[in-house]
Amino acid sequence: MSLVENIIRADVRALSAYNVPDATGFLKLDAMENPYTLTPELQQALAKRLSETDLNRYPVPNYAGIKTALSTHFGVPEGYDLVLGNGSDELIAMISIACAKPGAKVLAPLPGFVMYAMSAKFAGMEFIGVPLKTDFTLDKAAMLAAIAEHRPAVTYLAYPNNPTGTLFDAADMEEIIHAVGDTGVVIVDEAYQPFAQTSFMSRLPEFSNLIVMRTVSKLGLAGIRLGYMSASAELLEEFDKVRPPYNINVLTEAAIICLLEHAEIFEAQAAQLRAQRSELSSQLAALPGVEVFPSAANFLLIRVSNNAKSETYGNEVFTKLLEQKILVKNVGKMHDLLQNCLRITVSTPEENALFLKAFTLALNI
Ligand SMILES: *Cc1c(COP(=O)(O)O)cnc(C)c1O
Repeated sequence: MSLVENIIRADVRALSAYNVPDATGFLKLDAMENPYTLTPELQQALAKRLSETDLNRYPVPNYAGIKTALSTHFGVPEGYDLVLGNGSDELIAMISIACAKPGAKVLAPLPGFVMYAMSAKFAGMEFIGVPLKTDFTLDKAAMLAAIAEHRPAVTYLAYPNNPTGTLFDAADMEEIIHAVGDTGVVIVDEAYQPFAQTSFMSRLPEFSNLIVMRTVSKLGLAGIRLGYMSASAELLEEFDKVRPPYNINVLTEAAIICLLEHAEIFEAQAAQLRAQRSELSSQLAALPGVEVFPSAANFLLIRVSNNAKSETYGNEVFTKLLEQKILVKNVGKMHDLLQNCLRITVSTPEENALFLKAFTLALNI
């Protein structure tokens, strides 16, 4: 046996690393990033704030300043605390670590966010994927059956869902949260909340097993890596025990406090992106052979089909976009339900127009 075989878990060796394609020189529409950058005034204000940060000191680990700013701006209910993560990816990892009792299972609808299954695997938990319906709405009966059968310790519902953009029915979600009851937690992942404008955050007091998770990534701050979650004090106290004590660095801390003083800029950008989403959606839907699924996020999931009903047409269109230096996400291989589907980030009117032109060429119509 080699050194690696002697040391590294077989299930880890069998994995491939999370692949992030090099996008240099491409119009990048694959990762739901906000296309808008900071105004010169905001750059100045931020530079000043960052330069005054005590880089020689460890962060103060209770992060009271960030928590107050986030709670105020994002409607965390009175009396509810937060746990912060280096992106929501780290929060997902913390939840897995804390809940990984022997035999504990993680459940989520599929297609869904890949980190739920990955993180479950890392922690040695079995992942149960429950297929969505063909229109990407929740299959409530299948979810309830899977919950009864598996009694998952952790259930994820992305609200809205990635990669489909679907905003699940809130009454269905409620039923699922109740069905899980006190044998599991349900994480409502609101990564795209600025584009959905609806939330379970204010409903935390109704459900003792509910965790609401958010991130500032899709709002325009993916680079600073900051996610947060709220739940009952009882639950948060346990998750906080597995959090690396200084997981949010002082530059992220200073940046978010400074930037949230100008939160209206990010809210205006989100509003622009929502308007662009409906514009791009109608433009795409008007093209022959293009199906656009309803989206409450800052991306659109589309399905392309040609006359031959080719099963690989999505790959061809994706490649033709790449040739024109446009990078979208080819999700066709992620799940059977996503055959010939592409996921496209909604961007500025200029970038959306560039995409649309290249896409029309790629379709060869
Ligand atoms: C993008 C995304 C996240 C990850 O956010 P980070 O805070 O950048 O780690 C979480 N959940 C869903 C559903 C996402 O699409």
